[in-house]
This record gives sequence, C-alpha cells and structure tokens, in this order.
Amino acid sequence: MKQIAILGSTGSIGVSTLEIVAAHPDKFRVVSLSGAKNLELLARQIRQFRPKLAAVADPADIPQLKELLAGVEVELTGGVEGLCAVATAPGVQMVVAAIVGAAGLVPTAAAIQAGIDVALANKETLVTAGHLFMNLVEQHKVKLYPVDSEHSAIFQSIEGHRSQDITKIILTASGGPFRETPLEKLQSVTIQDALNHPNWSMGRKITIDSATMMNKGLEVIEARWLFDAPPEKISVNIHPQSIIHSMVEYIDGCVIAQLGTPDMKAPIAYALSYPGRVSTGVKPLDLTELSGLTFSKPDLERFPCLGLAYRALGEGESMPAVMNAANEVAVESFLDGRISYLQIARLIEKTMDAHQAHRLGSIEEVLEADRWGRATARDICTTLQTGRCL
Ligand code: NAD
Ligand code: MG
Repeated sequence: MKQIAILGSTGSIGVSTLEIVAAHPDKFRVVSLSGAKNLELLARQIRQFRPKLAAVADPADIPQLKELLAGVEVELTGGVEGLCAVATAPGVQMVVAAIVGAAGLVPTAAAIQAGIDVALANKETLVTAGHLFMNLVEQHKVKLYPVDSEHSAIFQSIEGHRSQDITKIILTASGGPFRETPLEKLQSVTIQDALNHPNWSMGRKITIDSATMMNKGLEVIEARWLFDAPPEKISVNIHPQSIIHSMVEYIDGCVIAQLGTPDMKAPIAYALSYPGRVSTGVKPLDLTELSGLTFSKPDLERFPCLGLAYRALGEGESMPAVMNAANEVAVESFLDGRISYLQIARLIEKTMDAHQAHRLGSIEEVLEADRWGRATARDICTTLQTGRCL
C-alpha cells in the first residue's frame, strides 16, 4: 500500500489522481491533501478519502473548512507551513505535486528534503529552479516521476536505454485551438475561444498556455532538467491528434514513442505505480479508428511564446523564472479581460527585455526573481492597457 500526499487535490490533476486512488484502494492510501479556494470540493474529498491532515493555502479559510467538516476527524492547517506539513506528513511515501504555479515550489522542495519521492505535475518547479531541484533530488536520493504526459512519454521511451545514445527528444504539441486560425484573426480571439482546447481537459491556466504554446515552451525547459538534455537536442512537433505523447530519437536512427488516448489519468497512474502499471479506465487505443497522425513544425510567428521559452532557456540563470512569472501575470490578466490574447506574448517579452539574468543560488532567490518578474509584468501590463506600449 503506497501512502500518498496530494498538493493541489482540488485541481484537474488532483481530481484525476484521486480517481486513480479510488479505483485502487488496495494499492494507494491518501494520508494528506491540500487545496486553495474550492473549500466545498476539498471538504468532499476529505469526507471520502479520510486523510489524517489537510491544508488550505490561506489559513483564514480554516474556520469555514472546519464548519464544512463538522464531525469528521481530520487535522486542518494552512499557509505555506501547512502545505509543507501536508507534503511531509508522517508515513507519506510519495507526494503528487499538483499545485499550479510558483506556489508549488516550497512544498515540493520540503518533500524532497524529507526524502520523499515526488510525482511532479507542477512544471513551474523545474522551469524556475531546475538546477536547484535536480541537485536536491540527487542530494536526498529521491525519485522524481514526471506526470506531464510528454515527459511521462519520454520517461517510458528511455527506459532501458543509455543517455549517450539519445540524439533528440521530440515533444509533441497539439497546437491548441489556434493552430489554423488566420494570423489576423488572432487579434480578436476571446477568452472562451482560448479556453476551448481541442483534445485535453485541464485547468484554466494551462489551457491558455496550450493556446499560446507557452505550455510547450515550459515543457522544453522541464525536459532539459528532467532528462539532462541540452536545448539543441529538444525539439517540438505539432501533432494535432495528441496520440503520440512524445518521442526519443537514438543514434541508430530509431525513434521510440509512447502512444495513448489523451487522458492525464494514464501518466498520473504510471507515476504512482512505477515500475508496475494499474488499470486507469482510459480507453485503449484502436489505431484502426484513427484517420491519420500528422506532424508539422511550429510556426514561431503564430506562437511567439515558444520562441520566448527557448530564449529564456538559452539565457538561463534567473530568466526562466522571470519568464514564468510574467507568463502567470499575462495569463491572469488575459483571463480577467485586461489584455488581449496577442498582448500575452508582448507582456512576457517586454518583462524579459527589462531583466538582466543573474545566478540563483537558493529557492528564496528564485522566489525573489519570481516576485520581480510579477511586479515588472504588472507595471508593463498597466502601460499595455492604457495603450502606451502598443
Ligand atoms: P488547476 O488550476 O486545475 O489546479 C491547481 C491546484 O492548485 C488546485 O488544487 C488549487 O487549489 C491549488 N492552488 C492554486 N493556487 C494555489 C496556491 N497559491 N497555494 C496552494 N495551492 C494552490 O491546475 P491543474 O491543471 O491541475 O495543473 C496543476 C499543475 O500540473 C500545473 O503546474 C500544470 O502546469 C501541471 N500540469 C497539468 C496538466 C493537466 O492536464 N491539467 C498536465 C500537465 C501538467
Ligand atoms: Mg503536457
């Protein structure tokens, strides 16, 4: 029986993780959970899964959660310390890191420092602090299992192979809802258009990142750290059917890919059950039902955010953290109706232009770069809104 903690249990990944747990009560037990604003859902999860400990992001929400849980025996906590307590609760053997954004950094680091294996969904962790986290993983001898479908596919495609034989890592991307939208129409796309992802059902932030392809850019950076691969060995193919989840090319010209119906339950289950596999309820793939698999190179004019991510990776140091922070501000501003879709990339680029990359020696310094990126992006956002920057 594997004892697990879920950071961000009320989100898209968290809910899918609990579905796997519910389907395999003989294999997994939830020891601790955390959520943020959706207290009703968190309370329902606590009633169903009976963790010993649960945390909310804001300690001020604890009394309301307590009320929702009248009669249920559970310890409630909150704030960053509370999230860290969830990540390191006694008995936890694996933490599913599924908080969205930079808020996931500190509790994920706490888990690693406590020697606990991590199933990593929160890609911002490696994007903003890849070298620090990979050092921590090595130092504390823990295992880091990718949950992101592309990285899970790569992880599955490199099993049993030598890293020196890899010539290329090829991440696939659906191209999102605007893959074929005429460029001049991108100016007027709406929030609803951008949230309408063709293949995957995900949280709002990552859905917008998929539309801009910043998601793929973040995944390129994530792959750089997870697989210790230099940027020139990581490429992106647009594959609108999302059937091949990523591929690895070897020196002999062979390419190994992982295929499946697009459903996050599959990579989540693999991270939880590695090296074994468990049933997921995901529809098996019937290749004869598919009309075809197509691939193309991404157009950086259409998807400038992908180019910005390669630039951040090239400049390194604090630049990816600043880019990530600017992206979070840009996506939030777009979802609040304050900037247009095309202004997302402009806001990120201007924030990066204003930044001088410098070395980050600790998670506190990463968070400082993150704060700087957010504050600068917010300032630039105000000038974008008033039209002075356009
Ligand atoms: P989501 O928005 O659906 O859920 C986010 C979770 O984080 C929720 O439980 C929320 O309560 C919690 N949270 C939000 N802000 C918080 C804060 N400040 N402090 C503590 N908790 C907070 O997001 P998601 O789609 O489940 O994605 C989670 C992570 O997994 C992201 O980093 C995303 O990039 C990554 N990811 C998601 C998918 C997917 O299919 N959804 C795929 C690959 C990777
Ligand atoms: Mg992905």
